[in-house]
Amino acid sequence: MGSRRDFLQNLTISAIGIPFLNLKDGSSGLTPGENPLANNPEENEAAAKSDDYDPHAPVLRVALMGLGSYASRVADAMQQCKKAKITGLISGTPSKIQEWKKKYSVPDKNCYNYENFDQLKNNPDIDAVYVITPNALHKEQVIRVAAAGKHAICEKPMAINAKEGEEMIAACKKANVKLLVGYRMHFEANTLEIIRLRNAGEFGKPLFFQGLSGFKIGNPNQWRMKKELSGGGAMMDIGIYSINGARYMIGEEPIWVTAQETKTDPAMFTEGLDETIIFQLGFPGGAVASCLSTYSMNYLDRFFLNGDKGFAEMNPSTGYGPIKARTNKGELNFTHITHQTTQMDEMAAIILEGKKPIVPVDGEEGLKDLKIIDAIYAAVKSGNKIPLAL
Ligand code: NAD
Repeated sequence: MGSRRDFLQNLTISAIGIPFLNLKDGSSGLTPGENPLANNPEENEAAAKSDDYDPHAPVLRVALMGLGSYASRVADAMQQCKKAKITGLISGTPSKIQEWKKKYSVPDKNCYNYENFDQLKNNPDIDAVYVITPNALHKEQVIRVAAAGKHAICEKPMAINAKEGEEMIAACKKANVKLLVGYRMHFEANTLEIIRLRNAGEFGKPLFFQGLSGFKIGNPNQWRMKKELSGGGAMMDIGIYSINGARYMIGEEPIWVTAQETKTDPAMFTEGLDETIIFQLGFPGGAVASCLSTYSMNYLDRFFLNGDKGFAEMNPSTGYGPIKARTNKGELNFTHITHQTTQMDEMAAIILEGKKPIVPVDGEEGLKDLKIIDAIYAAVKSGNKIPLAL
């Protein structure tokens, strides 16, 4: 393999390895203001040479379920993983299985469809299934994965309401398997650095967060525009980034929510399919968040955190990257690493080694966002301020 590729892979691990030291207090172990990987490419290069991954450590063997566009991105990203690899495929489309099994060297015996994937329970080559199907299918599929004795990694939103999320958590607990949610930003270097700076008091007391999450949805015939498959509109798909982001940027759980909905195209966004929702969250420390979720505007991917001593801005904040971030002290300058590569290596460490991520990615974390989504929809309907108990 070319040395540049090796270098980039090593950098992948090392650049985020430092924020992942995982001290008992959940901090990264860096002192306030210290940011050895930002702003200095030469130091980045040096750091890259001290790869902390053990080549003999076990590898998480993953079956991908739902071979659509995001699964393609995950599969490509996993080619650079050191701790996770694709060993199985689950799809309802035989031609996709043919194509993918060749591309990723998956044997026939590890290929399944939606009818027979319960047979995974007899397959020792697969440790975990990554569910990357339309939102409303996640619950049943994760419960079946758990019943087959495999760990479940589930795409966001984990389900389409909190009740479903609770059932999934219970099923995974009962089967003694882990349930993780595909929150790739929880492993992203700029995001983790801002969290570290906030924890170190660099921004003072967090007072305000703004999250803007949206894009123009395009094709009205896709599953995202069918409530029975999506569970809702923009909020389920993209607004969830601002919900989740408000929580990890402020570092507290919200205690109330208010929300208002607008529709410019009620013929396209029928009952239960939200086009645009503006929502506000209140936090116990006094901070408030003001967020926008929409399927009718592009160029909306921005987080802004303001405290009484400083600020952090990310724009773009949750796209596939590169993420661009700055604080009142200047720009962060982390090398871009494919998010899903880092995510899958870190998830392998969580599942196989019990590693604790700085920002959780477990079922309980997914459930908190679902409870907030339920409350946002209730607030839109009633016009009331809805209390939250997460
Ligand atoms: P997609 O339409 O590209 O792929 C969905 C896949 O599910 C397809 O292969 C399709 O054949 C399969 N499928 C199985 N049963 C189906 C059914 N009954 N109806 C329709 N399709 C069915 O969608 P996608 O963009 O890959 O999204 C899949 C999931 O991944 C969603 O939950 C989405 O929210 C999530 N996602 C996450 C990210 C992220 O950055 N974390 C990005 C995109 C999508």
